[in-house]
Amino acid sequence: MRYQRAGDSYLVRFETGEELVGALTAFAADQRIDTATFVGIGSVSDAVLGYFDREAGDYARHEVSGDMEIVSLTGNITLKDGRPFPHAHVALGGRDFRAVAGHLFEGKVAATCEVVVRPLPGAVQRQKDAKTGLYLLDL
Ligand code: ZN
Repeated sequence: MRYQRAGDSYLVRFETGEELVGALTAFAADQRIDTATFVGIGSVSDAVLGYFDREAGDYARHEVSGDMEIVSLTGNITLKDGRPFPHAHVALGGRDFRAVAGHLFEGKVAATCEVVVRPLPGAVQRQKDAKTGLYLLDL
């Protein structure tokens, strides 16, 4: 992973083979970023997507094998149990030009992934919500 400051933001280039969510978590921890938004594009392989089933109170998981274009990566970083926690969603496009999308659990960077991380002032924690079972923003 390589990065450069751009005003209040960071331009980050993730490298082939890096696990994207883990690498983003490590970047935030290294830079002491507690709260941020991010957007990105690039490509990913072997992504694991999620769809939150409210009745089941859990995520249905969907594995996407092979290389896919990251048409849109978007999300936020907040603190969960005192550590940076990226909440990422993606729209992925394949060779057939069809899209698949959802919550991003993990994925390996394919050719590259270019992310703009914009830190926000303050620190927002996530707390487990009894109603949904999710760790929601504690605002
Ligand atoms: Zn999500």
